[in-house]
Amino acid sequence: MRMPPFTLHTPDSLDEALSIAGGLADSAEEFDWVAGGTDLLPNYKWHLNVKPHVISLARVSELSELSYTHIGAMVRLQDLAESDAVHPLIARVSSMIASVMIRRSGTVGGNICLDTRCFWFNQSEEWRESIEWCYKCDCGSGADCRVIPNQNTLCVATYQADLAPVLMCLGATIHLATPSGKRSVPLTEFFELDGITRNVLEPGELVTHLTLPEDISEWQGDYQRLRQRQSWDFPEAGVAVLWKSGSNGAPSDLRVATTGLEAIPGYHSEEAAAALEGWSGVDSIDELAEAVRKAVRPVLNTWYPPSYRRKMVRILTKRASSGLLEV
Ligand SMILES: Cc1cc2nc3c(=O)[nH]c(=O)nc-3n(C[C@H](O)[C@H](O)[C@H](O)COP(=O)(O)OP(=O)(O)OC[C@H]3O[C@@H](n4cnc5c(N)ncnc54)[C@H](O)[C@@H]3O)c2cc1C
Ligand code: SF4
Repeated sequence: MRMPPFTLHTPDSLDEALSIAGGLADSAEEFDWVAGGTDLLPNYKWHLNVKPHVISLARVSELSELSYTHIGAMVRLQDLAESDAVHPLIARVSSMIASVMIRRSGTVGGNICLDTRCFWFNQSEEWRESIEWCYKCDCGSGADCRVIPNQNTLCVATYQADLAPVLMCLGATIHLATPSGKRSVPLTEFFELDGITRNVLEPGELVTHLTLPEDISEWQGDYQRLRQRQSWDFPEAGVAVLWKSGSNGAPSDLRVATTGLEAIPGYHSEEAAAALEGWSGVDSIDELAEAVRKAVRPVLNTWYPPSYRRKMVRILTKRASSGLLEV
């Protein structure tokens, strides 16, 4: 598959990157950011929503800072996996993503901003033409969504990245920058329930880094996921359960988040609060697992059918909660 033509910009600093972005916006030229390119470039090769300009963040060294409470957008996933400087669950989940080769190029920013996926969309141009396209990349045809037809206002392609649920449960804040300023939002509020817009990033805005609160060392937990081949496939369902130890065998706080089940990762604060109230060990875990299963709404656009993925959410939640019995 041939890469379509585009102009590549390679700024050496954040200021230069934002200035290029501002200049392109002023001249109404569309562009994409590229970090490791492991998601964007395969999509470009399949001619999926290609832009005429691409701004590479590879030389922007300010975005690679890494400490216990600060993760730069350009930190490579493999560096995170091998790091002693981060929360152990962040390192473990990073080590589970894709394969070593992909992790050596793929970045935290790229993983958080991963494009949503759908089996009607992640296909070659010839294949998509043969079904007369779909709404997310309609090639000017006005094509319908293949998963939920007759609406054409919403794409329900699935968010299939592993890092977000764990970072959400650890209380991460995501920091964004545009040519005109900076802002920060809780990671739980970063995603937008639309497979095309995906998140709150404005045109020309980028992710600079994530920060974590000082208390993350008090949080422990687990992340469990379902995927077709353990060697490198995208998650078909993923559940993070994190807690703070309490007294009398009960956790003092509990957070649950999911991925691979909708167009955005899910943060299940109500379900976690209900389980925490009147905690009773195994029974509370069973109730939590059933509540999370009921809360997720997968659609038929990934490898496994939605009914199976929902059933597995119950099992994954129980598995990820098993450490709660030792609190
Ligand atoms: C075969 C295969 C298997 C995979 N398996 C998994 C898996 O098991 N689990 C998992 O989580 N992921 C998986 N992935 C996805 C992989 O983790 C991502 O491709 C990677 O994290 C993307 O990072 P990147 O730096 O290469 O992003 P890029 O490809 O450079 O960018 C991805 C998207 O993010 C945007 N972007 C990148 N950086 C920024 C920024 N700083 N600010 C704003 N926007 C930005 C880009 O514009 C683009 O839209 C897999 C990928 C492949 C190819
Ligand atoms: S969910 Fe619908 S619009 Fe979105 S990629 Fe799939 S078929 Fe296309």
